[in-house]
Amino acid sequence: MSELECHDSAICAQSPERPLPGLLSLVIPCYNEEAVIEATHARVCSIAPSLGMQMEIIYIDDGSKDNTLEKLKHLATGDSRIVVLELSRNFGQQAAMSAGLETAKGDAVVIIDADLQDPPEVILEMVAKWRTGIDVAYGRRKSRDGEGFFKLISASMFYRFFAAMMPYSVPVDTGDFKLCDRAVVDTVCALPEKRRYLRNLIPWAGFHHAPVDYDRDARTAGETKYSVFKLLSLAADALLLSSDKPVRVIWLSAFLFAIVGASGLAASLISSTQDQTGLPTILAVIGFISSAQTAGIAIVGEYTVRCYRETQSRPTFIIRKKYNNVM
Ligand code: UDP
Ligand code: MG
Repeated sequence: MSELECHDSAICAQSPERPLPGLLSLVIPCYNEEAVIEATHARVCSIAPSLGMQMEIIYIDDGSKDNTLEKLKHLATGDSRIVVLELSRNFGQQAAMSAGLETAKGDAVVIIDADLQDPPEVILEMVAKWRTGIDVAYGRRKSRDGEGFFKLISASMFYRFFAAMMPYSVPVDTGDFKLCDRAVVDTVCALPEKRRYLRNLIPWAGFHHAPVDYDRDARTAGETKYSVFKLLSLAADALLLSSDKPVRVIWLSAFLFAIVGASGLAASLISSTQDQTGLPTILAVIGFISSAQTAGIAIVGEYTVRCYRETQSRPTFIIRKKYNNVM
């Protein structure tokens, strides 16, 4: 159970119910999603009558190379609920979502992927949670359809490892699919940092969080936009943008090597026979220690690169054009 969940009925009871009707913004990052975007739009719109709120749908075209932007502009024609942000190039999903959050005007904002892996109908449950006074209603994956055993196990380990490395509580089995109250969105958007990993940044902000369990579907069409390299880069951001524990690990390994070295020295001093250790063992030990030292330098380098980028202070994204009320 995550510490973020609001289980204190006294606290929850104090939170006022949120008044009807209000405006709900949907933030939908899109990168080469021409195969699915129309189906996504139809599914998203189908929940509107049950929502009890006005709806604003913000599609962010993250530098797509296919027909995604053209299709989005077509959807926006004559529909004033739709805003299309055309980014000047591919900035990545985190930046695209940030662009959507900064544009959203809603009393609550839902972030949802464009590929229908997260069923839009779950948004109704999120809104119901939000109405009771919860500030962040996050989707928690009960199952993940269409994903192999390896992906399931590695994702499960990934979530738990990264949650353990964070200096504050982060829910597991959770992606970007979530509803955030206006106060949370304003807090996150006001942060000066440029490089963002929202899955950790939103929990960092605090407020009252609660899960909404759902079954994650397989991608309706198209394919994942994450290569192994992109996933590794995202994992590095997940860890290094919010945690200094990797530096503590370097300290720990230095301490362990000091103990090993001291023990070896002591053993050779008190040993009556001379150490018979052969060259392969010496090479193995040197290789092991060097790789640990190099890893330590690399970790420090990764932090330095992130500091350097923040110092440059380039924007998280650049909007080339905004389409709204297209006729
Ligand atoms: N996405 C994006 N920019 C990117 C990569 C992905 O806006 O550089 C969007 C993508 O269109 C989708 C969401 O981010 O709406 C999640 O991407 P994907 O489904 O490929 O990730 P997966 O579900 O495989 O982790
Ligand atoms: Mg997906």
